[in-house]
Parts: sequence; C-alpha cells; structure tokens
Amino acid sequence: MSKTGRLACYVCSSDDSRLFYVGRDKALYSAAHFPIFRCEECGLVYLNPQPTREEHQQFYTHEYPFRIGHHAGGAGLYAPVLGHLRQREPGTLLDIGTGNSMFLPAMKEIGWDVKGTEIDSEIVETFRDEHGIELGYGELEDIGYDDESFDAVTILGVLEHIRQPQAFMDEVTRILKPGGVLCLYIFNRGAEASLLGRYWGGFDVPRHLFSYSTRSLTRLLERSGLRVTGGHHQPISFLPFFLVWLAMRTRNRIGRSASATFPTSLPRPLRLLNTPVGRIMASMKHSSSLYVFARKPGAVPQPAGAGPA
Ligand SMILES: [Zn+2]
Repeated sequence: MSKTGRLACYVCSSDDSRLFYVGRDKALYSAAHFPIFRCEECGLVYLNPQPTREEHQQFYTHEYPFRIGHHAGGAGLYAPVLGHLRQREPGTLLDIGTGNSMFLPAMKEIGWDVKGTEIDSEIVETFRDEHGIELGYGELEDIGYDDESFDAVTILGVLEHIRQPQAFMDEVTRILKPGGVLCLYIFNRGAEASLLGRYWGGFDVPRHLFSYSTRSLTRLLERSGLRVTGGHHQPISFLPFFLVWLAMRTRNRIGRSASATFPTSLPRPLRLLNTPVGRIMASMKHSSSLYVFARKPGAVPQPAGAGPA
C-alpha cells in the first residue's frame, strides 16, 4: 500500500488501482470471496490481497481439473510457438512451468537443446526417465541460471500464476541471450473479458493471481527491457463455456443444490459454436487466447551460414 492507502500496481507502479469486483472460485465451488482490483493506468487486473506462497499451493487441490498445469493441452496449444521458433536455428531453450506438456520433447526432436522448470517433483522425474530432459525443480528465481544462457524462453499458460511478475520478467530477461526470444501464452483480457465480467473463464482465481491485457503485458515486458515483436490470437472463446455454466446454475438453483462449477469441456453443439465465435474475436484481436512474441535487444546469435532469424 502507498501512503495514500492505495495500491501500487505490480506492473506500472501507478497507485490508481480500484476494487473491480469480488470474485469466486469458478473451478472449485467454495464460499470464499476474492477481491479483484484493476489498475486504471495500465489495465492490470489482480487478486488483492495476494495469498502467501503456502496458501497459493493449497488452491491446487486434487479436484482441480488442471492440477498438472494448464500446459497439459495437446499439440494445438504450442503449435504457434513451434512455428515461431522453427524460423530460427535451433539453440538453447528454457520452458518455465513445463507441466505434462509434450512441447519440450517436440522441440528436442527438431534439434533444440531443451531444459524446463517445474514445481511438481513427479513431473521432474518423469521427464528425466521418459524423455531424457532435465527440468529444474522449483521457482525460476530460486534455480538461478547463468546470465545469457538461453536463445529462447517459453512461458505457456503459466504467467497468470506467477507472483511478483516484474521481478520474474527481469529474471527471464537476465537469462536470455541478446537477440534471444520470449514466447508467451496467456488468457487475454480483451473484449470477451469485458463482456463477461466476473464470469469470464480466463481469470481463474484464486490460482491465477493476475490477468493481463495486451496493454498491461506489453508494459510488463518493456519495463524488463524486452521488445514485443508480434502476437497471434487463437480462435478460442469462453462464451460457450459461460452459456453451459449459466444453464447448469439455473438448473441447480431450481433444484436448490449448490452453485455450479465452471465446465472444463463443452457439449458437441456448443463445441461447434466455439470455433466461429473464437474466429470472429481473433480477427478483431480480442480473443481470450493470445500468444505474444518478444525479443531481447542485441545481436542475434546465429551460427555461420545460418538463415535469417
Ligand atoms: Zn498498472
């Protein structure tokens, strides 16, 4: 809190943050309420107060459908990143918060020297035994990689869970080589988030501590010295998920049972609706699903005779 009693924004330091709404846990129903604040300057939306590290861990219970990482998604989730990195000569890659994704094995397959980080010790063992890939165990800042170690860093479906995002992004920038690239995947706070408000599925409190728009994310990256070079909107919409949840909640209210939790999959007719709605949102650069590519200024390290970066 600043002297005025207001909060200093985690990304832009403005103290013009206000209570946005009081959220509930949409994935696991509980009686708990979570105050959500929004920075009027950069648009960052965040949980306040923030849970301690121990409290935060406890929100990932066994009932949580994405317990082993959002990252659990199939090849479709990381295809745009694979496409982006294929334009470069293979080099060293660090994936932060690997989860049980097959992204690193796919990158190893095409010649990259891959490493990852993971807070689940079972996943660390699995990657060593089944894929011959070393995952650093713990939080990025605690692992402490050398300066300028990596040609590429990927953070896919993880940033929203990260505490102290500016210190984290400064660390990412430190371990990137000059000319190295950062590939991020986030749930984008765009028009769909504005439309659905507290019912938008892209902000999963209390596991997500932050919710980024392109503006607040760009600000975060630039303050760490990175340059945003491009982005890619995926045609994924949370609107059909909201409709299913609304129908379930209405049915439960009539039956006087507990509030419905958010669905993790869609019935077929709504699955068909997801793609066209998502395409429209993506074409307007407002879909809820966004890849952002950034670069650390400096020379692009390329072996002699390599193609353009
Ligand atoms: Zn801000």
